[in-house]
Amino acid sequence: MRKPLIAGNWKMFKSLDEAGSFAEDFVPRVSDVTDRDILICPPVVYIQALAQACEGSPVMIGAQNVFWEDQGAYTGEISAGMLKSCGADYTLIGHSERRQYFGETDETVNKRLLAALRGGLIPIVCVGETLEEREAGKTFDVVDTQLRGGLAGIGAAEADTIVIAYEPVWAIGTGKTATPQMAQEVHAWIRTVLTGLFGAAAASEMRILYGGSVKGETIDALMAQSDIDGALVGGASLDAASFERILRFKG
Ligand code: PEP
Repeated sequence: MRKPLIAGNWKMFKSLDEAGSFAEDFVPRVSDVTDRDILICPPVVYIQALAQACEGSPVMIGAQNVFWEDQGAYTGEISAGMLKSCGADYTLIGHSERRQYFGETDETVNKRLLAALRGGLIPIVCVGETLEEREAGKTFDVVDTQLRGGLAGIGAAEADTIVIAYEPVWAIGTGKTATPQMAQEVHAWIRTVLTGLFGAAAASEMRILYGGSVKGETIDALMAQSDIDGALVGGASLDAASFERILRFKG
């Protein structure tokens, strides 16, 4: 059985003090949770402080990005090993904002994925179509290309730790959520692609998260879908009470 994962992506929000106050409020709220994984991906400069604040609790910490080299003269970049040594267990890769504003391609997603695995981080590979692509009937083609390019060179043995996040770009930060049926349709199809790539056993272990304006009011119906294994939550993960409500989904 796939253990659900509820992941918060803080993007470029909060001061160090605000991050600390969040942890003080949030950690006691969720200390009893064992049947689902909880992850916060803060700005990278807060990873160490938050990892310390969440130590001994069910809350895990992740990065929002990772560089593809292990070390070297790459000013401004941060490797998987460095993130791991600061307390990160996961990293997002290929978030649509990185694809849109920072020239991320399927090829660089793949390089980051291989580096994350090498460095002992669990990667969350983000895929999803724009509104224009959906309206042109290209959703499956776009996601198929992103998956095959992003996951190139991965074998069945490493595949089952990889997490996929399906995030329709038109639903991120817009307040528009895909209906549970729309999300399930793409998630089921993603699992079919993963089955073709890695075989049924690995694909049935791989978690596929939904992301895009997830809120307390929408999470239960999303999590009731058979191929939705969790959520990647942006805005609603910034507030301890609303993030707690999401991770206490029923379904
Ligand atoms: C995200 O950042 O991945 C995201 C889904 O954001 P939001 O929940 O704010 O739409």
